[in-house]
Amino acid sequence: MDLNYTAEDVAFRKQVRTWLEQNMPRHIKNLDERKAWHRKLYEGGYLGMGWPKEYGGQGARPMEQAIVADEMARAGAPAPTNSLGVGIVGPTIVVHGTDAQKRRYLRKILTAEEMWCQLYSEPNAGSDLAALRTAAEDKGDHFLVNGQKIWTSGGALADWGLLLARTDPAVAKHKGISCFLMNMRQPGVDVRPLKQITGSSEFCEVFMTNARVEKADQIGKLGEGWAIAQTTLGYERGGRALARITTYASQYNQLMAAARRLKRNGRPILDDAVTRQKLGRIWADLEVERYGALRTLTMLERGEHPGAGGSLTKLSYSEFEKRFMELAEEILGPYGQLTDGVPPEFRLEVDTAVGDHGTWAYAFLWSRAGTIYAGSSEIQKNVIGERILGLPKESRADRVGGTR
Ligand SMILES: Cc1cc2nc3c(=O)[nH]c(=O)nc-3n(C[C@H](O)[C@H](O)[C@H](O)COP(=O)(O)OP(=O)(O)OC[C@H]3O[C@@H](n4cnc5c(N)ncnc54)[C@H](O)[C@@H]3O)c2cc1C
Repeated sequence: MDLNYTAEDVAFRKQVRTWLEQNMPRHIKNLDERKAWHRKLYEGGYLGMGWPKEYGGQGARPMEQAIVADEMARAGAPAPTNSLGVGIVGPTIVVHGTDAQKRRYLRKILTAEEMWCQLYSEPNAGSDLAALRTAAEDKGDHFLVNGQKIWTSGGALADWGLLLARTDPAVAKHKGISCFLMNMRQPGVDVRPLKQITGSSEFCEVFMTNARVEKADQIGKLGEGWAIAQTTLGYERGGRALARITTYASQYNQLMAAARRLKRNGRPILDDAVTRQKLGRIWADLEVERYGALRTLTMLERGEHPGAGGSLTKLSYSEFEKRFMELAEEILGPYGQLTDGVPPEFRLEVDTAVGDHGTWAYAFLWSRAGTIYAGSSEIQKNVIGERILGLPKESRADRVGGTR
């Protein structure tokens, strides 16, 4: 593992920091403002940085991408929008799309002119994604799509969706799946938002009844959908690794400040020996996460793919986040539960990809999602057991790490 930054990396970090100081909005009030910030990032050269230059990217190294994400987290910069477009759909098109698809779709993802969602999970196909049933029937010049998706993040805002659908029910289940780009703004697509425990509705159910997908919008060959999903699910996983740690560190410092201010039995909570031990443990865990992130980055810089090692990172940060937020709730007491009218000293000053909610209550509830999306903790353990430790395989060999 290389723990040193090159002189170029240090200079680049300085350049990004200065750019953020000059261009970053303090607060984002609505989607239009977030889209404007997204476009500014793109025009500054800080979005889709790893994509090829001819399609609007910068051809940047993983370290440069990580530095930008890290500096954004350090500055508390608002997150851009269209995260699935930039993080999953774009890379899928870059790797597997035709030239015409690249020219048609990529730039509009980077400018947020077209918003995207990921249509993988179904009511009976999450961890066991290969069991999906949504069917795409070949009608000559187009496909007709019928079925239901669920947990579609950003579905209500999406203009387009990256769809996995069954095109051949006769072959082994993971061999009969194909990948498509589907227009969400058509009569055959019915999007119904789901209300979450946090009170917001980022996820949707999507019902497709005779929805149309053009032949030109098939990605890869028929029956290759499963392989395409495998290569792109883990795409750019390392890019945010460092930024995540910086966000946790910022939250940790805010929690420390609150622990100094709040009193229990007439003394600052921070004076309590047990609480100090718990805070120390979280800090030590955070340092472990930091070195894990640097290891991933080092691999990406060398052109290696973390492979099953990505499961270690995912399992470890998502379980860490839950422990961290549980301790925060313990320390903050009622202030950790307020969703409105939170005094400024107990607000959480950090913007996340799912919006700036500014409360510990939201962050705590959101932390529960991490051990489910992109493959639940149990699925990550299966992957680690089978592919890293070489333990006997689960009976169903085609299980994956799940979707987002
Ligand atoms: C915040 C969030 C955002 C999401 N966004 C999207 C999105 O944009 N698009 C999309 O397509 N999907 C999305 N998902 C869906 C996500 O991919 C699935 O929730 C996930 O893969 C788990 O599937 P499931 O919910 O069907 O649970 P299930 O697969 O039914 O699992 C239920 C429980 O059984 C356990 N389990 C299942 N199989 C095994 C096994 N083989 N061994 C041991 N334990 C097992 C699981 O760990 C879990 O505890 C999102 C989910 C979340 C939470």
